Amino acid sequence: MKGYAMLGIGKTGWIEKDRPQCGPLDAIVRPIAIAPCTSDVHTVWEGALGDRHDMILGHEAVGEVVEVGSLVRDFKPGDKVIVPAITPDWNSLEAQAGYSMHSGGMLAGWKFSNFKDGVFGEFFHVNDADGNLALLPDGLDPCAATMLSDMVPTGFHGVELADVQFGDTVVVIGIGPVGLMAVAGANLRGAGHIYAVGSRQVCVDVARKYGATDIVNYREGDIVEQILDKTHGKGVDKVVIAGGDVNTMDQAIRMLKPGGRVGNVNYLGSGDYVKIPRIEWGCGMGHKSINAGLMPGGRLRMEKLATLLETGKLDASLLLTHRFKGFENIEAALMLMKQKPKDLIKPVVLLE
Ligand code: NDP
Ligand code: ZN
Repeated sequence: MKGYAMLGIGKTGWIEKDRPQCGPLDAIVRPIAIAPCTSDVHTVWEGALGDRHDMILGHEAVGEVVEVGSLVRDFKPGDKVIVPAITPDWNSLEAQAGYSMHSGGMLAGWKFSNFKDGVFGEFFHVNDADGNLALLPDGLDPCAATMLSDMVPTGFHGVELADVQFGDTVVVIGIGPVGLMAVAGANLRGAGHIYAVGSRQVCVDVARKYGATDIVNYREGDIVEQILDKTHGKGVDKVVIAGGDVNTMDQAIRMLKPGGRVGNVNYLGSGDYVKIPRIEWGCGMGHKSINAGLMPGGRLRMEKLATLLETGKLDASLLLTHRFKGFENIEAALMLMKQKPKDLIKPVVLLE
């Protein structure tokens, strides 16, 4: 079969590989719609995970089951499914402890385009099919539903990590597709003021549609000063980090009230250390907590989040600024993600 792969750090291309084998608990899926992710860009062009050779990229897909293992109960060939980016081993001790995303080791629930071939192939392998796949509800646009693989659950996980409550004043740093889903998630959770930090107009417009009450442009001055200005020096209850770099945590701590919480889902592709400002962290006694994590993945989360699309409570299609058609356009979509032109939020490729 054909797939679009990372050949080595900084190099990508089309390769031929054997079709994956299906174990007793697994499924083999043919993608129907896929989306490239900023994480693919960190992985290939920053070498953030270390070197990978001839590894098919991609971890965001809606697909059709073509084969299931003998022990799979709930799925059969022909089923249309949402595939989460994170596919934990649900019988692992880490999953039993509540950290499915780290099943088998740190970040090891993230398998596609990390430890094994991803979804940019003619077929791909899904471990623990009953625990990880979710049926695609009838009538959902497969392109919008592809946002359920990663963008919706990751943005929402940032909101969970920050523990956003009714009436909280929240900052979302970064309003690419992940941050935009954090804005929407904070809004659904009942946040009051939502300050969205970004710069590109296309993202700003969509952030307002998802519930941002104020926009802060990080290119027009220090974001800490801007947020402290807007909050009369008090700072905010919660910060979700969905963009920036190793210096962003420092800014988040400075804009947080004592007792506040940071939820970070940003993938730090480079730099060795994350700094925390001593004084603004209350010399270690400020009750400013930091939660940072990979999204949990799995079937239950996919099924629940799909109901938000079904009921119209969340319109994920607002993220889709660039729609491609045809397998061969996977390359163009990934390159667009790398270049990040001004009018891009998220590209998607419909394969049929
Ligand atoms: P984008 O690159 O599309 O968005 C990043 C956002 O951050 C943009 O709004 C950008 O602004 C803004 N930004 C960039 N630099 C700064 C800065 N110095 N200060 C403040 N804001 C800044 O990324 P995505 O939305 O696709 O993904 C966000 C992050 O989440 C990525 O690192 C991705 O790898 C990660 N991720 C993590 C997952 C997890 O499970 N934890 C899963 C999926 C993704 P501008 O408009 O100017 O570009
Ligand atoms: Zn992703």
